Amino acid sequence: MNDVLALTCELVSRASVTPEDAGCQALIAARLQAAGFTCEHLRLGQVDNLWATHGSGAPVLVLLGHTDVVPSGPLEAWTSDPFAPQVREGNLYGRGTADMKGSVAAFVVAAEQYVAAHPDHVGTLAVLVTSDEEGDAIDGVRHVARLFAERGQRIDWCITGEPSSTEILGDLLRVGRRGSLTGTLVVKGVQGHVAYPHKARNPIHQAAAALAELTARHWDDGYESFPPTSLQVSNLHAGTGASNVIPGELRMQFNLRYTPHWDASRLEAEITALLERHGLEYTLSWHRSGEPFYTPEGRLRRVAREVLGEFAGAPPEESTGGGTSDARFIAPLGAQCIEVGPVNATIHQADEHVRVADLERLPALYLALVERLLVAQD
Ligand SMILES: [Zn+2]
Repeated sequence: MNDVLALTCELVSRASVTPEDAGCQALIAARLQAAGFTCEHLRLGQVDNLWATHGSGAPVLVLLGHTDVVPSGPLEAWTSDPFAPQVREGNLYGRGTADMKGSVAAFVVAAEQYVAAHPDHVGTLAVLVTSDEEGDAIDGVRHVARLFAERGQRIDWCITGEPSSTEILGDLLRVGRRGSLTGTLVVKGVQGHVAYPHKARNPIHQAAAALAELTARHWDDGYESFPPTSLQVSNLHAGTGASNVIPGELRMQFNLRYTPHWDASRLEAEITALLERHGLEYTLSWHRSGEPFYTPEGRLRRVAREVLGEFAGAPPEESTGGGTSDARFIAPLGAQCIEVGPVNATIHQADEHVRVADLERLPALYLALVERLLVAQD
């Protein structure tokens, strides 16, 4: 069996639902160590992180990934066992085949091939994997990046293997991500009988005007290739279920996906000021998922555009769409970050799969990126 396919299958058969690693990193470390990498295991809280490096000094190129996967969901929805990888009609099925054990396996194969061909390469090639990407992402790369900042560990370029391709391998190059900020708002009222409104205070009525202003607000017109900042209300609840009771409180949750025009603290200040203007009695708490990051034109984007163009047969779309990823924690260290990985059509779904032909080309894609960034001196 092809090396990358075999390694992907070994990883998929380890049921590493967040924050479990289930031995994936030990397997990866054993392979990289045999190839001459120095491996550091960073166990933080419930989370396993692996930092493997080869070479020394600048420039530092990091291949970033995760070994954890989202739960399988109901087994009846799967044609085959999600943790028993199976090839059918040219696709490899299993949880994590696309997101992103295929990419992690391809990192390992590409790294082995690179250091074997260029034992005295310039700079540092590093592989960083965590078992907490799909969950809270607290003791994963967020924590590791904090340790790196304390140690003064520099990173010049970071390639995340998240499944970014849309239709064919290499058709999309992710060059940034929007920021994500969630607010939980509780508006306090006074519960009472609907027939006696003067004895109560209706938090729904009080919140309505503030909500109208909040949802109608135009935040910006976008930023370079970023779509405009958007606020979406995700949950809204008030009421006891009875038709004759004015409720005592209203609870609402909203999320902002925002461009580099904003940061979390400025958004929080704007929204707090808006609520204050409406004279509400409320509590508001925030969860900051990550600031936006953006990699402008430069060496990394140029090289990636070239390589992806060769693989996909046409220049890639350069996009900042989609959710968020661990690159958000590496970018603040001063690194240029991109995301390049397989087709993402089935991620987080039942019958998740990756095309075997794509998987088999993936190591060559990462190898080409590494070879052109860490130009060999031999
Ligand atoms: Zn992922």
